[in-house]
Amino acid sequence: MRLRQGVAAEVLISLALVMATGTALLAAVLLQIDDDRIESLHGLLGRGFVASAHHGIVDFDQADAGHWWSVDARGAVRGINAPSGAIDDRTRALALASLGTGAPLVESGAPWEAIRFAAPEPARAGAVAGRIDAPISVALLGAVVAVDVVVFVLFGWSLMRRRVVGPLRRLVVAVRELSGSDVAASVPVEGVAEIEELASAFNEMQVALAARTGALEKAVRELRTANANLIQAREGLDRAERLAMVGSLAAGVAHEVGNPMGALLTYLELAGRDPGLGELGKRSLSKAVEQGERVRIILRQLLDFSRPPRIERGPLDLADVASRVIELVSTQHGPDAIRFELEVAEGVVPARGDLSLALQILLNLAINAVAAVRGRPTRTVRFEVAPILRRRRVGEDATRSVPLPRVDGVVCRVSDTGDGVAAEQAERIFDPFFTTKPPGEGTGLGLANARRLAEEMGGSVELEPERAALGGACFRFVLPVADEPLPSDGVRSNEPHQSRMS
Ligand code: ADP
Repeated sequence: MRLRQGVAAEVLISLALVMATGTALLAAVLLQIDDDRIESLHGLLGRGFVASAHHGIVDFDQADAGHWWSVDARGAVRGINAPSGAIDDRTRALALASLGTGAPLVESGAPWEAIRFAAPEPARAGAVAGRIDAPISVALLGAVVAVDVVVFVLFGWSLMRRRVVGPLRRLVVAVRELSGSDVAASVPVEGVAEIEELASAFNEMQVALAARTGALEKAVRELRTANANLIQAREGLDRAERLAMVGSLAAGVAHEVGNPMGALLTYLELAGRDPGLGELGKRSLSKAVEQGERVRIILRQLLDFSRPPRIERGPLDLADVASRVIELVSTQHGPDAIRFELEVAEGVVPARGDLSLALQILLNLAINAVAAVRGRPTRTVRFEVAPILRRRRVGEDATRSVPLPRVDGVVCRVSDTGDGVAAEQAERIFDPFFTTKPPGEGTGLGLANARRLAEEMGGSVELEPERAALGGACFRFVLPVADEPLPSDGVRSNEPHQSRMS
């Protein structure tokens, strides 16, 4: 198994190995070179000692004179300047060897080993033997080397931490932060030259990466917007195609059926003038005319749908349009049957559009709302007219105490206390001929027409379930802001925060 270790440990171990090997080699070479010289030095010393011993001038009591004994032929030891028991075996053996040969002997070794001398005593039948210990013992030498290694390791470690390991660790943290998408992470340029270079390269890479990430994010955002626009455009195209198809179909049907229908109604009217007509005949004819009128209304709606409307883009007061619609609808249903509310918010400005089309749109929404509340315990239809304030743009000062007066449009919401629109029908209700009303009651053209007319004026009609405060449906009809003020004789009814009931 491969042992995982850091750069510091790796470098320190390698250095220690190199140092130990180098020191050993050096020591071996030096010792080898000096061995002969030491030998001759020791020989010289020995001869000096022997001569001094012969002439009796050896001063055994000097502090650096070593330990001396006198050994006789039987091996009995007498201490000269050291206790007799302190003699070691090698010194005694050397003394006996010197006695045997009758010649002085010197024994020395490595610098940390003792030097031993032995020489026969001419006066007595014995030998003088001595030992001078090395100034440094093996243990002390070992301890010095150990301290040396410890100091070396500590110093090396702190150096490595400061110059190599620390910068490397910071680099690692920065890389991790970068992978955790913190694109702003950069590292201080420090440490030994190569690590400094690595840190600068890393910072350069980080800057390039941040720039590329920014560009990528921008591209993704643009792609998303383009995609959303495409989807919207495709949906719009689909709808436009559908509407165009329905429009041409409707125009054809209205034309083909409309003419004979006109003739039919004329003949019915003529027949009704016949004085010889009985009561049953009169009733039947009047019912036939009634049904015929209904067909004519449907045909007119179909023609409305297929014909591009003639639009006047004048300034109009949407609150005034709403109050006219309330007046129209409430007279048909009786004021007590349904409660109509009109709320006009502060800051409503004139809208741009065609008065008769705006009336038609709000009337359609009101008729649907009335139909939705019919038979309900609470029957309320509310009209709310409000300005659509411009959204704050990026970089615009959010702390402005006075809001910018710009208005993007005018909205009229029509909400009711009916059942509301089921979520799965929310988009389909704007499709031509979609209706949930019983046969003979709805054509499914009201909302399709309303939306088409609003779009022709640059506005929109949408379902707004999130604003349905009354619990039923809520539709919003939006028109753009007029470029010019209302004519001075125009009816203005939108005083701020005004609430009127009909
Ligand atoms: P129609 O009224 O002839 O059915 P519309 O296009 O006006 O045609 O409406 C389509 C359908 O939308 C209605 O049949 C009804 O299901 C739904 N709808 C419209 N207005 C409301 C409303 N206020 N509350 C509930 N449903 C509504």
